[in-house]
Order: sequence, then structure tokens, then C-alpha cells
Amino acid sequence: MSDTDKAPPAQAAAPPAAGPRKLARGDLRTEVQFIPKVGPQRARQLDRVGIKTLGDLLYYLPRRYLDRSLIVPINALDLSDREVTVVGKVVNFGLFGGGRVARRFEVTLTDGTGVLLGVWFQGLQYWIGAFQPGEHVAFSGKAQYYRERLQMSHPAVDFLDEQESLGLKAKTGAIISLYPSGEQLTKVGLDSRGIRRIMAEGLNLAKGMIPEFLPPDLMKRHALLSRADALQQVHFPDSMTKKEAGWRRLKYEEMFSVQVTLALRQFKRKHRQQGNAFPRPARGGLTAQAVKKLPFQLTDGQLSVLTDIRKDMEAPHPMNRLLQGDVGSGKTAVAVIALMMAAEGGYQGALMVPTEVLAEQHHRTWEPFFQALGIKSALLIGGLGVAARRQALDQISSGQAQVVIGTHALIQEKVQFSRLGLVIVDEQHRFGVAQRLKLRQKGQTPDVLVLTATPIPRSLALTIYGDLEISLLKERPGHRQPIKTLIRSSRDLEKIIAFLKKEFDKGRQAFMVYPLVEASEKLDLQAAVEAYEEFHVGALQKYRLGLVHGRLLLEEKDRVMRQFSRGELDLLIATSVVEVGIDVPNATVMVVMAAQRFGLSQLHQLRGRIGRGVHPGVCALVADYPMSSDAKDRLTALEKTEDGFVIAEEDLRIRGGGEFFGTRQHGAPDFKIADPIADRMLLEIARQDAFDTVRQDPGLNSYPTLRAHFQQAWGEKMELMDVG
Ligand code: ADP
Ligand code: MG
Repeated sequence: MSDTDKAPPAQAAAPPAAGPRKLARGDLRTEVQFIPKVGPQRARQLDRVGIKTLGDLLYYLPRRYLDRSLIVPINALDLSDREVTVVGKVVNFGLFGGGRVARRFEVTLTDGTGVLLGVWFQGLQYWIGAFQPGEHVAFSGKAQYYRERLQMSHPAVDFLDEQESLGLKAKTGAIISLYPSGEQLTKVGLDSRGIRRIMAEGLNLAKGMIPEFLPPDLMKRHALLSRADALQQVHFPDSMTKKEAGWRRLKYEEMFSVQVTLALRQFKRKHRQQGNAFPRPARGGLTAQAVKKLPFQLTDGQLSVLTDIRKDMEAPHPMNRLLQGDVGSGKTAVAVIALMMAAEGGYQGALMVPTEVLAEQHHRTWEPFFQALGIKSALLIGGLGVAARRQALDQISSGQAQVVIGTHALIQEKVQFSRLGLVIVDEQHRFGVAQRLKLRQKGQTPDVLVLTATPIPRSLALTIYGDLEISLLKERPGHRQPIKTLIRSSRDLEKIIAFLKKEFDKGRQAFMVYPLVEASEKLDLQAAVEAYEEFHVGALQKYRLGLVHGRLLLEEKDRVMRQFSRGELDLLIATSVVEVGIDVPNATVMVVMAAQRFGLSQLHQLRGRIGRGVHPGVCALVADYPMSSDAKDRLTALEKTEDGFVIAEEDLRIRGGGEFFGTRQHGAPDFKIADPIADRMLLEIARQDAFDTVRQDPGLNSYPTLRAHFQQAWGEKMELMDVG
């Protein structure tokens, strides 16, 4: 089975791998050009929006609907600022004005109760050709009086067939589906009306040919419409209720498909895929010694996570575990002990982190620890000199280095491990699935542990990480101090500086962080550099300041970070490079400049850099108006709580599903119909059903249609069925 995270398409669109074969009439794999009213030319146009087959067409779903409840008679238009829709017939149209009067295109529309003008000042050429006298249209927009005439400027236009128009106005109230069609398609007559006409033909052609693949007992239990009915109702709803039922079915179908794939993959990994079975760590062995050597007692939470990990590592199939723990919950110690388990078992372990600064910090901190245990560790990052790099590569390929800490550099082609048994990926959301896969391919199906500091609401974790097992680290080890979070404006900077001085005088340290947004990297850099130079000779001249940013040479960055962690600097001014993982318990203040420009989880991470030692912390979020309401929401959320799980939920609420973590880029299943956030209840159900189904019958033998669906959707490449 391919290890990609892509879900099978919900529709059975892929042609069979075994060359062309005659399709039955109405088979969903029929090419669109064979649908009545679609010729080769239309087919090419449809191709532009990804519609190649009848199945693709039927799954091209409406973006919204027009129904009676939205339509206002012209004589009842209120002139408030509200968007309304008017349905009527085109009386006439033409170009007006020119010279001193603005040139414009006007359409007169009547619905029998009054007259409304649609007015365009732009795109005149296009609009002139768009209308025909007597045609039925819907105008949506804001109506207003202008020179005693009721008009809408630049209304959204939807063309209707006559019966559609009549249906909309009739008591029975037809519901008209509106499709995402885009300007390109609209220009060639493939607007919503055009698509509705083709869709009607398509549904007609597919009648009786739309295979049901959901297990009947599940459909019954959740009162789901059949696939055929659902598609019919989504495109041509009988009622709003039926339309909703149709959508619910299609969403369930999509989520169920994705989850069955994940369940099959998990099953295969657990039962079929050969991985390393590590020996159980011995009493008094390396792992036990390492635990003893830690400067603290592991918490119960850490121990229980380590037990999960140990069991996975002992098992003969590859581990695939996600460890979610809030900032400061002590994930690093867990990772280190897991690395020792690997070493004790005679394997190499790799820890991959997102930044060079962090890789170095980890290496610096833990190298002496490893050394004392007789374990050789190597650092591999992009910024190494030629000699150092060659040495690291040699140590990795010879197996001399039992622990390897590094960045993306670890997944480059040249890097060869001798016996890679465990891969730990820190701060998961920075890595794509593809990268994870590459690292994994460096070993013979090594065990994989993924660490993330940004807690993800369970339902989302299940979709994003699908077949991963999940461990939680809830508590934060002792001595963690509460952090006071304050929202301030840049006018308060003087007061903030005064506060910093007081802290410095007490021997504490502080961070001052500037945002780093790629688009304006120079400007941001400048802000940090200027602040450094200004404070250096001005308000903070008595104190020891350091500056780090992405443009510094590695050694320079390293030197400054090292100074800061040793307590040789009072204030570290930085661009957002310190975001992840830096651990300086003596730092008590985090000042975030232009805080409105950071994401919520980023801010939470930054705040997590302080309050790590015995002293309480203060986090000042410096933000100036104007800022978006989302930005305001983010800052308020931080002010209200320190709980990473609450913050993650809030982040979801503010950003919505699609954008969370930019899941798209990171290989999460790409839902086309369902929204994993808005539909999370349904998602939980679909997931449960899918995993139950696979557990009971991993070969899907008693679900021939489901099995056929997967075979067809994935083609033979999937080898999906070999799990059975
Ligand atoms: P994160 O989960 O954010 O990576 P770290 O691993 O950096 O957290 O740990 C945060 C801080 O807590 C570090 O200073 C670490 O040394 C300390 N720490 C970790 N585990 C324990 C423990 N069991 N008892 C006391 N302190 C601990
Ligand atoms: Mg960490």
C-alpha cells in the first residue's frame, strides 16, 4: 500500500488500471463528452474545473442555493444596507452615458411588482453580450434609489430557466443550486444555469447506475440517504430538509472513506508490516541509567508516555505515535529516554527539529549527558563547515553516532544511517508528511515518534494524523510558574523598559521578539536591529544585550544563544527564531513586538519560553491599532488562558478548519465536501464506524461494494486489499 496521506476520491473516478474497457451506459467513469448536451468542446471546458467523468460531474457540488426565502419582490425592497435577491425578467438593456456622464450598462428588470435597474460601470463589453430580452435572471446586491430610479450597481447575476424562475416564485418554492463556475466558464456559457442543465442530463444518465458502497447497517443506523438520492437532492433539492440530508450523506461518505483508508493503513502497519522489535530495556541497563541521571524525577505523565512508547518499540510492527504536550510539559526528556531505549537495543536514534538554533541547543544540552552514559551523539545541520559535515556524515553512516540530532539536513539524499531504528520529529506541524516519510525511509521502517507542542483538538488530530496513535502529556513538571499576560501598545514601551530593568537588576533575563514575515523580512530585521542599536546606547546601555536573527551566521547565532542561556546576557532581542523550544529557566519576561502579526499558537509558544524556572513570568504583547478583529481575538484568548488545549480550540474557532496549521500543505486529507471542523461530530462518528468496520473485517470481505469502491477509487496501485 502506498504510504501517502491522500484520501481516495469520494467518487469512483479513476479508470481501471487494466486498459480501456467498454463501460456500461451511465457508468460513473463515463467521460463527460458522452453526456447528452455535452460535446467535445463543452467537455474541454469542464475539464478546466477538473470534471472529466460523469462521476466528477455529479460530485461537482453547489456552492449555495437560491430559494424563495431569499427573494424579495421589487415593490417590497427595503433600502437598508442588506443584500437581497430579486428575480425577474429582462425588459431591455443598453449602453448609456459617455462624455461627461459616466459610461454605463443598464439592464431593466421587472418581476410584475415593479422595475429595477442593474447598472454596471465596468466590464461593459462583457455584460452587453450577457443578456437577452425576456430572459429570467436573479440579481443579488444592495438596492438603492438613484435619481428616482431603483437600482443595484454591479449585482451578482444568476441566469435562470423560465421554469426555475417560476418555481422560485411559486408557493411550493423550488430551490436552485448555484455552482462555483468562475469567470472563465461563465464566459463560455458554463454559468450555474449551464451547469444545472448538464447536471440534469448527468443525473438522468446515471439513474440506477450510482453504486451504493456504504454498509447498509451504518446507513440505517445514521438514517443516511442512498448515494443516488443524496446526489439528486444536493443538485435539485425537493426541500431544504432533503437538501441537508443529501449533504449529510455525502459528507459522511467522504469522511468514512478517508477513515477506512486510515484504518486499513493502521491495520496493515500493526499486523503486516515488519518493523524492529526492540528488546525490553534491561534492569540497570542504559535506559535505566539515563533515567537516573536526569536532573529531575520524571513525572507520572512522562513515565506513562514512556510506557506507551516502550510497548510500541517492543512490538514487531513500526511505531507511529504522536505525543501532544503543551509547551514546557517536558517532551524533550521523554524523547531523550526514548533515544536511549533505541541505543540500548543496538539501533541509532534520530531527533529532527525545525530550526538550527534548536538543534544546536538540544545538542549542546544533551551531549554531555549522552557522553557520561558512553553514548556518542552527532549534530547535523545545514550550516556546518565542510569538515564538520563530513565527520558527522561518517559517524552517522558508520553507526558510530548512536544519537543524531539535526534539522531538515537529516533527510537529504547524502545522509545514510547504519541502523536507524527510531525517528523522533519535534514540533510536528512544521514538517510535511513527505518529509516525515523521507526520514522514515532512511531506516528500515524505523519507529516514529512525533512531538507536538501545539495541542490539537482530538477530532482534528484524528483527521490530520489519522493513523497515528496519540499520547498526551497534560501536567507540567514542578516549579512551573504562572505567567501574567498583558496587552500593551507601543506607547507603553517606556514602562516596559523600566520593568525590564527592574527584572535585570534582580538577575532575571528577558526576550524581546519581533515578527518575521517573509514578505517583509528586511523590514522586520531592521526593526530588531534598530531596537538593539537604540537600546544599546540608550535606555539599556547599562545592560548586556544580544541580537539574533535568521541572517546571522550560524556561529554568531550560536554564540549569542549560548551566552543567553549561560546568563551572560540580560536581554535577547530576536526575530521569531526563538519561537520553538529554547529553554532558559532564568528568563522571566517575554516582550512580543507587533504581536498582532503572530498567529495564536505561535504566541502561545513564545510565551512558553518563560515561567520555566522558579520565578513567575510576565508576557507583554505589544500591539497597535489598527488591527483585525481576528488579531484582537487572538490576543484576548492569550490573556484569558494559559491552557494550550483551550487555546488550540480558540485558534480553530478563529481560523476555521481549512487554515488550521495550513493543513493543506502538511498532507492532511484533503476534504472536498466535509469540513473537519464544522462537521466534527459527524467526523467522530464516521471515524468510529470506519475503524469498527476494519477491525471486524480487515479484508472488507463482507462489504463487497465498499471493497469494490476502494479498489476502483485507488486502482491496483493501492494494494489496499492485501491486508485482508
Ligand atoms: P517541552 O515539552 O516544551 O519541549 P521541555 O522538554 O523543554 O518542554 O521541558 C521544559 C522544562 O521542564 C525544561 O527546563 C526541563 O528541564 C524541565 N523538566 C522536564 N521534565 C521535568 C520533570 N519531570 N521535573 C522537573 N522539570 C522537568
Ligand atoms: Mg520542546
